[in-house]
Formats: sequence, structure tokens, C-alpha cells
Amino acid sequence: MEWCAAGEEARGGDIQNVASELRRTFISGITRSLEWRKAQLKALLCLLCEREAELCHALALDLGKSAHESMISEIVYLRNSCKLAKKKVKKWATLKKVPIPIVAFPTSAAVVPEPFGVVLVISPWNFPLVLTLDPVIGAISAGNAVVLKPSEVSQSTSKLLAKLIPMYLDTTAIRVVEGGIAESTLLLEQKWDKIFFTGSSRVGRVVMSAAAKHLTPVVLELGGKCPVLVDATADLDVTARRLAFGKWNTGYGQACIAPDYVLAEASVAAQLVAKLKKVLENFYGKDARSSKDHCRVVNRRHLERLRSLLEEESVCTTVVHGGEVDESTLYMAPTILLNPSLDSAVMKEEIFGPILPIVEVDSMDSAVEFVKTRPSPLVVYMFTKCKRHQQNAVGTIQAGSVVFNELALQFMLEGLPFGGVGESGFGCYHGKDSFDAFSHPKAILTRGFLLDVPFRYPPFTEYKKKV
Ligand code: NAD
Repeated sequence: MEWCAAGEEARGGDIQNVASELRRTFISGITRSLEWRKAQLKALLCLLCEREAELCHALALDLGKSAHESMISEIVYLRNSCKLAKKKVKKWATLKKVPIPIVAFPTSAAVVPEPFGVVLVISPWNFPLVLTLDPVIGAISAGNAVVLKPSEVSQSTSKLLAKLIPMYLDTTAIRVVEGGIAESTLLLEQKWDKIFFTGSSRVGRVVMSAAAKHLTPVVLELGGKCPVLVDATADLDVTARRLAFGKWNTGYGQACIAPDYVLAEASVAAQLVAKLKKVLENFYGKDARSSKDHCRVVNRRHLERLRSLLEEESVCTTVVHGGEVDESTLYMAPTILLNPSLDSAVMKEEIFGPILPIVEVDSMDSAVEFVKTRPSPLVVYMFTKCKRHQQNAVGTIQAGSVVFNELALQFMLEGLPFGGVGESGFGCYHGKDSFDAFSHPKAILTRGFLLDVPFRYPPFTEYKKKV
């Protein structure tokens, strides 16, 4: 087994020591002080500014991301998240008085957010910076000690975090443990006070059962199939541009919030396909393979998985755009399918790649009904000008978020909680919600010794009962 903690050399079997060291730090109380929290957030901000080039390079090595995409979708977002937490942490951490009923006079009541203690953050490979560090920002601002375990699949980013975090942050309270399933399993055997997991629903179940042993609360940010519903009132030019950008320019479909499949009213489906083809050519030229403006499939295993989705008999005949694969560069062309079988794997499994199935439906109502019969998605996107369709989506579809006429922007807005429901997970974060995800709202009630009314105590005589 190989692993590294805080940038030091491998020290096999020492995960338990990391957890114990961090617990000692937490018990010392240092992480509770506002000064410590702000200093760590400031240091993380410095890391994100001073090491921009190295971070972009690691993301390019792992995912073939352009520096532009890395800045927009990861680094700038994280800087803003740090700045917000630094600015607001005092307010968020302040005790808040709670009104009390007159009968409880003279009593005061309040709620104060308390750090959970020593927390674990496990993250996936697809946005390996933002999905690792944004929960860490929440954990630090709430006053916790934290271990972060990045994905072994995005190994350059993982290595870089293991090198940089100890250079900037307090290693007595914030540690990186690198590794894959073996290290994750060892980590999950320890007692944590909160586990924040981002990844697949399959591993989410593993995390939750490990947490149950220690009664550890968890946040599960999981995956699934995010549908896009398009009706005949939608502006199809804008829809095609936003849809193409959200699918192929946001991790090349390898994003939990990427559109997975489209349900389009039959009267506009063919037009939508035609417009998407045109947009793809505008974005990436005649040969998308040579474009530097989209990233690639993360590794050969995922490329093979995607290729097998296309090879299914009922699917391969439905390819209306793309479909080419080049193993040597881990490339799959932006691919559009029209009306693949609803029983095919591409319509049942999370695609997590550059394939976009479009399915014709007779109405938005039947599209909504279709989504309702499937596992609850992280996001439902709808392109429409129709208020009734919007209200129907908000009022009847169970989903982490509902987004109209836009794609992925909801992730960037710190005022909106980000999280799933049902199969797509539970708990949420971003902005103040990140602070709350790592805080226990401790109730405080204080009463003086005056007015100790005897009526409340036994014996409960008939007279007392009457009064
Ligand atoms: P994954 O579940 O395979 O891995 C996530 C993390 O868990 C990694 O750090 C990995 O090392 C660890 N892990 C893997 N197997 C494990 C096991 N058996 N026991 C313990 N730990 C284990 O996910 P992935 O392939 O890295 O990421 C893709 C998935 O993540 C997709 O399903 C995607 O939808 C989801 N995702 C969700 C969000 C969200 O915010 N909801 C964001 C990004 C990705």
C-alpha cells in the first residue's frame, strides 16, 4: 500500500495516526478560533492565486482541460468561495438569539453553530480541485479539522494537493491522504465526526454503511442522469448553444450536473439536432478532434465503457452525429443519438461522457411523467417559455435542483444550495450551506434563579391542577 500524508513520504498503516493527531488538535480548541479559520482561508486563497499555473497544468495532465476551462470551472470559483467564507465566517459563527414564549420568562434561548470535530472529505476525479477544496472551505470555516482524500484517477491533481496543502495550511489540522479504494477503506474504518463524500451512488452506499458503524453523519453528493426537457416554445438557437456548452464544455459530459439526455417535443426534436450539429461545428470546427476547447475522456476504462454504450444494437443505428473514437488520444467525438431504445444502457446508466441521447416526446407533460418514474436526478433542466410547464416541473418533479433555460450556472451561485435528493444524494453545500454542512446547531437555554414558581413541582394537588 502506498500513501502520503501532508506531503511526507509514504508511512504505510499510519492513517489511524493522522486521525488521532487531528483529533488532538481539535480537542486543543485551536480550530475553533475565528482567527485560525480566517488565517487558513486566507492561506488557501494564496495557494489558489500563487499556484494557478501548476494547478492548471495538473488539470490538463489529468483531464486535458484547457487553462480557460480550469480557471472558470474550478480556480476562480474556489477563490470566490474562499473570499466569501473569509468575509462571512464571523457572522455565520455568531450565536443567534431565539425568541421565547412569555410563559418561559425570564429565560433566554440561542443557537450557536458548533464544529463537528474531525471530518473526512472524499472526492471524485472529474472536477478534482473544486470538489475537493470547496467542501474543505466549508469544513475550515465551521472550525473543523479535516482530512481530504482526492481521487487516485486524477493523480496529478492529487499529488499537487498533497504537496501544496502542507506548504500553505496548518498540517496539525488539515491533511491530505492520497490513494484509491484501499486507502479510502482504511480511512472509512476510522471514527470521523462527519463524512462529506462526492462520487458515484455505488460508492456512496459503501461510505454510508461504513459511517453507520460510528454513527457518523454523512453528506452524499452523488451522480445520476440529469434530464433536459425542451418544448416547442423554447428559443432553439439559444437552447442549442447552452445545451452544447453544458454538455461538451463542462468536463466533456463528465460532470454530475451535465445534461445526460434530452426529452424534446417531437415538433422540435429534428430542428434541435440540426442546430446542435451547427453549434458543435462553430465551437470546435469541422474536426472536433483537433480542438483544444474541450477536454478528453479521463482514461481508457471510461472510453471503453462509453464505446460499449454506443455499440449496443438498439443504439448504434441511432447515432446522428459523432460516434468516432480514437483510443490513442482518449477521444470520443461529441455524439448525438436520436431516439435510442429506452431500455438501452445509454438510457438507463449515467453516461458521464460526450454522448447526448435525444428522445422525442409528444408533450412536456409526458416528459415530466417520464422523469418522475426514474430515480430522482441531481438537476432537471427545462427549456421553455411556458409558465405552466415551469410550475409543473417545480411542483411535481423530485430533484436536487430545477433549472430553466440555462445549464450548470446553478453550481456557480453561492446563494443556492447544491445537493441531491434520493438516488442523487442528500445534504447540500455552497456558500453558507457549506458552513452549515459542517456545523451542528447547538441549542442554548439559560435561566436565572428568580421566579421559581412552586406550581411546576409535585405533588400535583387538585388546587395546583386548577391553576
Ligand atoms: P467514485 O465513486 O468511483 O469515486 C469517488 C471517490 O471514492 C474516489 O476518491 C475514490 O478513490 C473513492 N472510492 C472508490 N471506490 C471506493 C470504495 N469501494 N470504497 C471507498 N472509497 C472508494 O466516483 P468517480 O468515478 O470518481 O466520479 C464519478 C461519479 O461521481 C459520477 O457518478 C458522478 O455523477 C459523481 N459526481 C457527483 C457530484 C455531485 O456533486 N453530486 C460531483 C461530481 C461527480
